Amino acid sequence: YHHTFFEMLGNWSFDDYFKAETIDWAWQLLTDVYGIDPDKLWATVFEGDESDNSEPDHEAATLWSKLTSLPKERILFCGKKDNFWEMGATGPCGPCSEIHIDLGPDRCDMKHIKGHKCAVNAGCARYIELWNLVFIQFNRLQDGTLEKLPANYVDTGAGLERFAAVLQNKKSNYDTDLFMPIINTVSEMSGRKYTSNLDSKTDSAFRVIADHIRTISFSIADGVTPSNEGRGYVIRRILRRAARFGRVLDMHEPFMHKLLPVLVDTMGEAFPEIADRSEFVSTVIEAEEASFGRTLDRGLEIFASAATEAEKSKDKIITGENAFKLYDTFGFPLDLTGLMARERNLDVDNTAFDELMEAQRARARSAQKTASLAMSLSGVSLPETDDSAKFESDTITTKIVGWIGDGTFEQKGTLK
Ligand SMILES: [Zn+2]
Repeated sequence: YHHTFFEMLGNWSFDDYFKAETIDWAWQLLTDVYGIDPDKLWATVFEGDESDNSEPDHEAATLWSKLTSLPKERILFCGKKDNFWEMGATGPCGPCSEIHIDLGPDRCDMKHIKGHKCAVNAGCARYIELWNLVFIQFNRLQDGTLEKLPANYVDTGAGLERFAAVLQNKKSNYDTDLFMPIINTVSEMSGRKYTSNLDSKTDSAFRVIADHIRTISFSIADGVTPSNEGRGYVIRRILRRAARFGRVLDMHEPFMHKLLPVLVDTMGEAFPEIADRSEFVSTVIEAEEASFGRTLDRGLEIFASAATEAEKSKDKIITGENAFKLYDTFGFPLDLTGLMARERNLDVDNTAFDELMEAQRARARSAQKTASLAMSLSGVSLPETDDSAKFESDTITTKIVGWIGDGTFEQKGTLK
């Protein structure tokens, strides 16, 4: 269910409405407007925390009872981890109230775990969080204590992809109309079928590509282009990972850029910038795919033999040398090598990789130094050196005509 790009829905109040309206409206939207069966919904509120003397949010619990048809047993008091929002160590913060939905016992994916009992916040897929209502009413001071803010604020958040899956009665966000048009296009291009199976390697390639094309396209449209540094490298890594998953579907030519039309179809109305800049985005993606594509297939062969070697080794680890070679010669970001390693139950020696990376940086720095030494001799005219003596004798007496001091050529002074 993890996405590299998602759409967050929400509503905010700055010193205007507070808990009562937020709870009432969230309930109305889910049950009256979206038609979700109220019997499937649960609410959680903050249970308080002794360590910082914060009180349980009885106010929110009472409002859930008063304003909705939720019975008391489906209003749960939960801890700080899920039900208290903080921006940082200090500053505005406050209790949250979450709305969860029970998707039914069939949806539990932890049945095989001994002692597992399906419940809100128990970690299985039967209960999922739909909406988080954050009530910002405190300010945390340096010494950790809470003081009441002079005004109350509301910040709520809900993932569109998850709402879509619930409302369209799909098991996965990827099966909704947000992703299926992209997945269907990939299917047409590759001639492979998508079967909505969460354990299938081929299906997960479809999902990765459908997720990544959104991230890459929006980032490029917003001005982040693939590069070797910072946010540009994040985009490069995501794009290269998508290209590699294309190989899982037997697509060996650049294909990601061909998804732009379907992306514009599904998202262009809400985000006109993606339609306006689609030609530019497509060109950037194609160039990046083409450049990585030149080394990708050969790199995959190198990876395969590195993985076979690792499988035979005692600690099942891909050497730093192999990971570095894949990075340096074939453009495989370390996290891509790591991901492919995990698919084969192997690890990567990240420490050795980092050492090789550092050594390469040091070499680059000293190469730069040598280059700058040569630069400092430009414009200096020196007599040609007669070095024939090196073939004849072990020692020789010679005369120093000059030296490079602080980046400049010197002929006078004292040589220390
Ligand atoms: Zn369960």
